[in-house]
Amino acid sequence: MKLTVIGFWGAYPEAGGATSSYLLEQDGFSLLVDCGSGALSRLQHVKPVKELDAVLLSHYHQDHIADIGVLQYAWLVQNVMHGTRDILPIYGHQEDPEGFQSLSHEYTKAIGYDPNQTLEIGPFSITFLLTKHPVPCYAMRITDGESAIVYTADSSFQQSFIPFAQSADLLITDCNFYGEQDGSAAGHMTSKEGAEIAKKAGVKTLLLSHLPHHGTHGQLLTEARHYFSGEISLAKEGYTFES
Ligand SMILES: [Zn+2]
Ligand SMILES: [Zn+2]
Repeated sequence: MKLTVIGFWGAYPEAGGATSSYLLEQDGFSLLVDCGSGALSRLQHVKPVKELDAVLLSHYHQDHIADIGVLQYAWLVQNVMHGTRDILPIYGHQEDPEGFQSLSHEYTKAIGYDPNQTLEIGPFSITFLLTKHPVPCYAMRITDGESAIVYTADSSFQQSFIPFAQSADLLITDCNFYGEQDGSAAGHMTSKEGAEIAKKAGVKTLLLSHLPHHGTHGQLLTEARHYFSGEISLAKEGYTFES
């Protein structure tokens, strides 16, 4: 299983960047997890848009879905140019009916997932956990049967992340705040909270993502290292993880 960070910013992308978006690849299958602002442009440094096999969304905040509209245009243009009628499946939860319906377009199809069931997409099996966020949002545990990647999506701290992330090869946490700040009102976590989950869940690698627009990101890494002795990285565009 290979993960590539396409975008890591919280809220909005800084110059040349993108907000939350991650590409997962296995056995020639490409799954885009979240599709934030700038993601479509950044994705094309790694993969042609038409080579995506599916998209999976955690929730309907703009920093996770802003580029769905232009992704739909890209599939329309590419299909017309090549005389094809390929449809891209976009998986989302159905607790925001308007958001969910917007995933269907001429060449994209909205598919609802049931967060209480394991979802199979290509070679991936995905289980979900409701997060603590102002709107319904789901964390994901994605496995290919051998290794596991856990993505908290957007959330403030909750104990249930610890069993959910147990022994994961890679844990990607929402790290929108610094160690001594309190991100809970905004529905986000700190470096310290992400590291605490990593430690208690016994994950191999921690990736701090959904990064803030204030402070110095290096400090997030220093703070996390106080609590977790495993490997820790700061998300950046082009970061890859293979397991
Ligand atoms: Zn959000
Ligand atoms: Zn977000």
